Amino acid sequence: MDPLFIRMHAADNVAIVANDGGLPAGTVFPCGLQLREQVPQGHKLSLVDIAAGAAVLRYNVMIGTALRDIPAGSWVHERILRMPPARALTQLPMATVKPVPLMPLAGHTFEGYRNTDGSVGSRNILAITTTVQCVAGVVDFAVQRIKAELLSRYPNVDDVVGLEHSYGCGVAIDAPDAIIPIRTLRNISLNPNFGGEVMIVSLGCEKLQPERLLPPGVIPITDQRGGAPGDDKLDVVCLQDEEHIGFMSMIDSVMRQAKVHLERLNMRRRETCPASELVVGVQCGGSDAFSGVTANPAVGFASDLLVRAGATVMFSEVTEVRDGIDQLTARAINTEVAEAMIREMAWYDLYLEKGQVDRSANTTPGNRKGGLSNIVEKAMGSIVKSGTAPIVGVLAPGEKVRQKGLIYAATPASDFICGTLQLAAGINLHVFTTGRGTPYGLAQVPVIKVATRSDLARRWHDLMDVDAGRIATGEATIEDVGWELFRLMLEVASGKKTWAEHWKLHNALVLFNPAPIT
Ligand code: CA
Repeated sequence: MDPLFIRMHAADNVAIVANDGGLPAGTVFPCGLQLREQVPQGHKLSLVDIAAGAAVLRYNVMIGTALRDIPAGSWVHERILRMPPARALTQLPMATVKPVPLMPLAGHTFEGYRNTDGSVGSRNILAITTTVQCVAGVVDFAVQRIKAELLSRYPNVDDVVGLEHSYGCGVAIDAPDAIIPIRTLRNISLNPNFGGEVMIVSLGCEKLQPERLLPPGVIPITDQRGGAPGDDKLDVVCLQDEEHIGFMSMIDSVMRQAKVHLERLNMRRRETCPASELVVGVQCGGSDAFSGVTANPAVGFASDLLVRAGATVMFSEVTEVRDGIDQLTARAINTEVAEAMIREMAWYDLYLEKGQVDRSANTTPGNRKGGLSNIVEKAMGSIVKSGTAPIVGVLAPGEKVRQKGLIYAATPASDFICGTLQLAAGINLHVFTTGRGTPYGLAQVPVIKVATRSDLARRWHDLMDVDAGRIATGEATIEDVGWELFRLMLEVASGKKTWAEHWKLHNALVLFNPAPIT
């Protein structure tokens, strides 16, 4: 491949090196520019002379100022850039962008499981909700037995998962912020992939009692016990109940109750559903400088296709969009949505401030090695995942989505916590972009992984589902990969396995608990 750099905007004074392995000093680009030093792949080079103190522009956004004179053809890395301060949450443009309405996209369907609450599952899974970490070992044991002894009798059920977590006791359960972990667990139990079959394993003495986790009225009655009117009792196996004599009697109880739900789940069949029933969560992890050039723009294009098809798409990761807050408030559909976005950012600013977190805490060493100098540059590449549609709604952490269109679901950027909160928000599909590479997966919802570079897609050929690196080399366009991803989403939602599912790779649920531990 000829020496190639990628510039994101005509006003940019830096670009990134596209070639695998980077380029050596002395390399001459077709435009005549010569490299003064070696520049690794994905890292920035200066296109013109940049004077000390001048703005360094990528995505037509100031990602820093030069700490010294940077002659054209130099390697521009984080050590010669000063990071700009965070954008204040005042005087922001509110719902100022009036986007051209996106053309409706009709005729795309997938085969999903319809639920009585109107949602649609992409998988048919028995989930066992837990109130407290104390029961995790018992639930694990029972899940293994269910898989080994029962599951083969219920061929239409895809899997059994224990919803285990670190919460439930030893926590300040009445602290105002405790609402976040509690509603997260509640809403995960109601994820569309579990068919409304809620069964709970509780210890008995824990702070998070089953009725507090799932108060009356939260689960539609028809979903609980086959619709018997008035029967709104929760299905709880309580380990401390007197009926339990010895460990095996606990396991027997869990298995007996599991059978009741497996019978009902097994009667369900996939049916043709419009693409508008997709609820897709997007996030990135292990990002590099290509994330914002290849994978994330392709996801953004696919996100627009989903919105055009009437579906729900959510993007998240507060710290990775915080520096682009003005773009987001401008894209809000109305001032209420813009204000909700500012409220979430302000809450998170305060949360970070309490912990004395500085602005260098996000980017990771791997991000910087991949060419991302700081959080401003990372944020610009992250936001493009959201495409161009107006933002129609905002969710606080752990809340459940109730509308179609592009939603901002406020979550930390941590991959596992973001995934956990998006599960609570009600996703039936998860799209994950990565440049450095991560084997990330979820047991509850299929995860489609998109590689930002072809080199990663080749090396991790049995972990990455889509190679967006072809965009950097010119083998494919953003639109090509966006459509490919959109079609793959419909196939995966219909039952096609992702690589993470093939290998049964999944990460633990990790709750966001900003409240104190006691
Ligand atoms: Ca992430």
